[in-house]
Amino acid sequence: MKTLNAGLVAAIVSIFSVTGAMAQTQDTYALPTVAVLTTGGTIAGTAEQETQTTGYKPGVLTAQALIASVPSLGKVANVTAEQVANVGSDNMDNEVLLKLAKRINELLKRPDISGIVVTHGTDTLEETAYFLNLVVKSDKPVVVTGSMRPATAIGADGPSNILQAVSVAAAPEAKGRGVMVVLNDRIGSARLTTKTDANSLDTFKSVDGGYLGSLVNQQPQFENRLARQHTVDTPFDIASLDSLPKVDIIYGYQNDNGYMYDAAVAHQAKGIVIAGVGAGSESKFILPSVRKAMEQGVVVVRSSRTGSGYVPADEAYPGLLGDNLNPQKARILLMLALTVTHDQAQIQDMFHRF
Ligand code: ASP
Repeated sequence: MKTLNAGLVAAIVSIFSVTGAMAQTQDTYALPTVAVLTTGGTIAGTAEQETQTTGYKPGVLTAQALIASVPSLGKVANVTAEQVANVGSDNMDNEVLLKLAKRINELLKRPDISGIVVTHGTDTLEETAYFLNLVVKSDKPVVVTGSMRPATAIGADGPSNILQAVSVAAAPEAKGRGVMVVLNDRIGSARLTTKTDANSLDTFKSVDGGYLGSLVNQQPQFENRLARQHTVDTPFDIASLDSLPKVDIIYGYQNDNGYMYDAAVAHQAKGIVIAGVGAGSESKFILPSVRKAMEQGVVVVRSSRTGSGYVPADEAYPGLLGDNLNPQKARILLMLALTVTHDQAQIQDMFHRF
C-alpha cells in the first residue's frame, strides 16, 4: 500500500511538473518582449556603505546585472538587456542621444519587440526622454527610468523602478502615449515631467500637466493622454543625422550681462534659449546683444527659469515663445527644429504643437 501510494504520489508529481513546465513554456511564449537599454547613472551605481546616497560609483552594474537584480521581471516580460552607454547623465551628449534614438527605432521595427525601457541618470533624464518623445518613429511604448539611490543603498529605488518601467513598456494600453517617464509609482509624459529636487526620492513631477497614470501593485493604471503631438506625428527624422545644431541656454538674473549672448554667437551657436525671469522676461541690459544675435541668424527662444508656466507674447522682449517647456526641454526642441527649418513662424508653431 505504502509503495503504491508512493508510486501514485510520484506519478501525480510528475504530471504536475510536466503541466507546470508546459504552463511555464506557454507563459514565457505569451509574454511580450521588452528591450532594456542601459546608459549609466545612479541606477547602475554602487557605494561602500548602505547609507550612502551620494559619493557612490556610478554605472558599475552591467545591463545584465541590472536586470538580474529584479527576478520578478520574468513574470512581466521576456527582457533583453544591452548597454548603449555608461555615463553619468551630466555627461550625456548629442552623440549618445542620437545613438540611443537610432537603436530604439531599429529595435521597434522588429515585430517581436513590444516596448523599450531606457535606464538613465536622473539629472538630465527629462532631456533624453523629451528628445525620444520627438524622434521615436513608432507608437510602441518607450519608457525612461532611473533611480535616486544606488543599488547598494537601504531602500534602493532602482529595482522597483525597473520593474514598473518594464510593466508599462509591456502593457498594450501604453501604446500611442508618447515616451513616458516612470519612477516612484508614477507614469509621466516625457513632455511634462521634470526633476524638481536634487535629493529626494519623489523628485520627478509633472507640474503643469498631471500624470498619464500610476502603478498599483506594480501594475499600470492609465488615466490620461498627452495633448501635444509626439513620436510618429513629428517631422523629425534622425536616421541620417550625425550631429545636432548647437543650441545654448543662457540664464537670466539681476544685473544681467549681454556678453554671454555675444560669446554664444562667437562659438557658432545656431540657437539660444533664454531661461528668462518670470514669464520669460529679459533684462534691458541684454537686449542689444539678443537683438544682435538674432540679426546674425541665431534663433532665440524665451523660456522661464521658474521651471513651469507659460511664456506669453510680449513685444518688449525679442525671441520666439517657448510655450511651457522648461529651458532644458526648449533646447532639445530647438535643436531638432533647426534640423528641419530656420523659418521663425514654423519653429514657433512647433513650440506650440510639440
Ligand atoms: N548624477 C547621476 C546621473 O544623473 C544622478 C542619478 O542618476 O540620479 O547620472
